[in-house]
Order: sequence, then structure tokens, then C-alpha cells
Amino acid sequence: MGTADLLVHDAELLATVDAGRRELAGGWVAVTGGVVSGVGGPGDPAPRAARRVDARGCLVTPGLVNTHHHLYQNLTRAYAPALTGGLFDWLVTLYPLWARLDEEAAFVSAWVGLTELALSGCTTSTDHLYVHPRGAGDLVAAEVAAARDLGVRFHPTRGSMSLSVEDGGLPPAAVVQDDDEILAESQRLVAAHHDPSPHALVRVALAPCSPFSVSPALMTRTAELAESLDVRLHTHLAETRDEDAFCLATFGRRPVDHLADVGWLGERVWLAHAVWPSADEVTRLGAARVGVAHCPSSNMVLGSGLAPVAELRAAGSPVGLGVDGSSSADAASLWLEARTAMLQGKLRHGAAAMSARDALEMATRGGAACLGRAGEIGELSVGACGDLAVWPLDGVRFAGALSDPVEAWLRCGPVAARHTVVAGRFVVEDGVPVHPGLAEQLAVHRRVAAGMQFEDPAAPHRSQARGGPLQRGRTDVP
Ligand SMILES: [Zn+2]
Repeated sequence: MGTADLLVHDAELLATVDAGRRELAGGWVAVTGGVVSGVGGPGDPAPRAARRVDARGCLVTPGLVNTHHHLYQNLTRAYAPALTGGLFDWLVTLYPLWARLDEEAAFVSAWVGLTELALSGCTTSTDHLYVHPRGAGDLVAAEVAAARDLGVRFHPTRGSMSLSVEDGGLPPAAVVQDDDEILAESQRLVAAHHDPSPHALVRVALAPCSPFSVSPALMTRTAELAESLDVRLHTHLAETRDEDAFCLATFGRRPVDHLADVGWLGERVWLAHAVWPSADEVTRLGAARVGVAHCPSSNMVLGSGLAPVAELRAAGSPVGLGVDGSSSADAASLWLEARTAMLQGKLRHGAAAMSARDALEMATRGGAACLGRAGEIGELSVGACGDLAVWPLDGVRFAGALSDPVEAWLRCGPVAARHTVVAGRFVVEDGVPVHPGLAEQLAVHRRVAAGMQFEDPAAPHRSQARGGPLQRGRTDVP
């Protein structure tokens, strides 16, 4: 056995989430050349390593996988004027602000958002960037540059909106594009950034936004393009009952019928939310192995509903977790989504229905399957990507939690990762992002976010929010 680059050893518990769901007390994992080169228990001889990390008292898991996000939305995080209604009101308030997106905004929001995710043990994230204002520049390239700067695994999607309010859609004309332009851009971005090779750091998917913002023709043509380029497909579906009503009124079809009509009912697809599929639709999604990004926090903040996660998994759909955009969720912690998914599962089906292990499984293997990377990420087995998280199980939060480290990990807390490792390299070390640029990027982020949110970005606390006056603190209301 040669010398490994990294050896994480003596874990309180190593939860491999591999095919056999092996859990090794006192376990170790070795990474060489960015790839897992060995996994073992205390009785198995560990290799020598250039770097050793003592994981005593810690749970070690695969790096978590985020299957749905809108990184740019952290520029309008917890934006008060938008929290007035459900999804549609929220979107209509925010679209005009997002129309200010440019390359600097895309870079800094991705940089900060991916750092935030890494702090929660996330090593692979997707992003659904569907706002491409005219003249905004190459927003996806800016995001990819941020991910490469940080060293995290990244699956950006080329999102799109083509159906403006003038054409019966929801978004304003300033943020929609025509179909030919969207498809040409999609093809160009796949050629520029998509890496189909094993252990790739960057892969690109295509992602028309939702039934209420793109035409059926664009959905169909995007599916054909994805087939020819062999990339994955992503969209929002069945997020709210308003969307059901929109689909029935506009297409005369329920959302999953619409999905089938446009050629999207297949394994290449993973959907965000899927809160309101009927029992029949759940069966059809599962039979077609359509993946689902479950976004429990967002679904609660926007009051969208409780997704039928257990039913979707039982029907055969791979289910992963998504933090969703930081204007709705608004924290971007995969740990928090895993915990919330566990709590929602118990709420729906009883205490035994969704264990911490089920939630860990969705946060790792489930996400990997959604992104088309089963066996490659989301598990610690020889040949998989060397992506892992080391979680502390000590201090006040864990006092007395002695019987089951995986249940403790999700039921105690909140917990941030002690170390987050991507391809054998530390992105977070001792709870702190390794990249030295965080303070500088946060300052840029504050300036860009203020410019997006306020009429007078120089004095945001005195100027009016662009989406309308703040309701809180008003004194003229009787
Ligand atoms: Zn979303």
C-alpha cells in the first residue's frame, strides 16, 4: 500500500453510506489523488499518509450534496418586502431586483454561497441560475470561476425564462429571453464548462425555470438538446397549488402530464420541490426514475406545503436535498435541511418514519443519484471522490448523546462541519473556510446586495427598499 495524501482516522463513527451502508466505529478513510483509496475499521491496517487528521470524537460522513439552489438569491436574503404572500407574490416582488444581476453579482453570490454550504459539510452543489438580464454578461462562467477559486464540486445549470407576463407567464419582459438564444447559450456553456470525465469538478445541466415561466416548446427543445449533449435536466415542478391551477388553466393538464408532454418524464431529469404531485403522479415520477430535490425549509418559509418524500422514495424516485435559494430558505445549510427533512418526515408519517440515517442518505446518495453521479459522490468507498465531512460530537450540545452518533448528529446541534474536504483538499478546516479571501468577498457582497435592494445603496438603512416600503416598524398604522 502506497502513501496516501490524506488519512482521516479513529472516527467515533465512519458512516460510509456505501452500498452496504457500512458504519465503522474507530474507522478510517484514505484519499489519494483526489479519490478514496481505502476505507477500514480499527482492525484494518491504515496506509501511511502525507497528512493525518485525528477524528476521535467525530462523525465522518461523505460530503453532503446540494441538489437545488439559486446562489444569486443570497443578494436578497430575507428581503422583507417579499414576504407578503406565497411563491407567486414573492417572485413578482423580487424579479425586478434580480434584473440587476451582473457578472460581479454572480461571482460574489456564488463565492459566498458556496462557502456557506461548505461550512455545513456540503462538498457538491448545483445551482439553478435562471435570471439572465440582457447585457448582464456570462453569469454562469462567473459562478464557475467562484467554485474553482474555492475548490468545491459544482453543477451549475443553464436556467432560463422565456414566457413573460405579456405572453401569459409570470416574470417581467426584462428577465426573459427567446428560445433560440437560450438554446444557443446552453450549448455554448456545456461546451465551455461541462466535464463528463470521472471525478469531474464541474458539470453543467440545462434548467428551464418552471411551467409558469417557459413555453412548452422550450421545454421540448431543451430536452432534445440535453439528450444530444448527454447532460442532465432540471426544473421546478409541483411546488404550489397555484402552479397546479396555472397548469390546468394554461395547458389543460396537471404538472406531470405537462412534463410527459414535453419529453421530460425520464431518468435524465431531477425536479425541485415536487410538493403537490397526486398519488398517481408520484407513481409515474417514481416509475420513470425522475429525481426530486426536496427543499423542506423553503417549502415551509413560503408556506408551499409538505412534500410526499416517503411516497416518492417508495415509488422509486431518487430523492436528494436542496437548500433552495437564500431569498426563501434563507439559511443555506445542508445540515439544517437534513434535520428539517427528518422532522417533516416524522410529522407526516410518525416518529419512526424518517430517521437521521434516512436524512443522511438523502443528503448524500440521494443527491448523488439526482445529479447522475451515483457511486461517484455521496458515499465513501474505494474509487469514489475524496469528498467528506468531519463533524464534532462534543461540547454542550452533545453532552449525554452516547448511544448513536448518527441520530445525535442530526437531533442535537446545530452543527457545522469541523472539516470539509473536496477531492482530498480542505475547503473548511477547524470550522473556518481555508480560502483567505472571505472578508474581502463579504465586503463586495454587501455593496452589491445594497445596490440591488435599496434606492440609495450608500445609506440602505435610511432609503426605501426597492420592492416597496417596509411594513415593519411603521408608525402610521392605527
Ligand atoms: Zn428553486
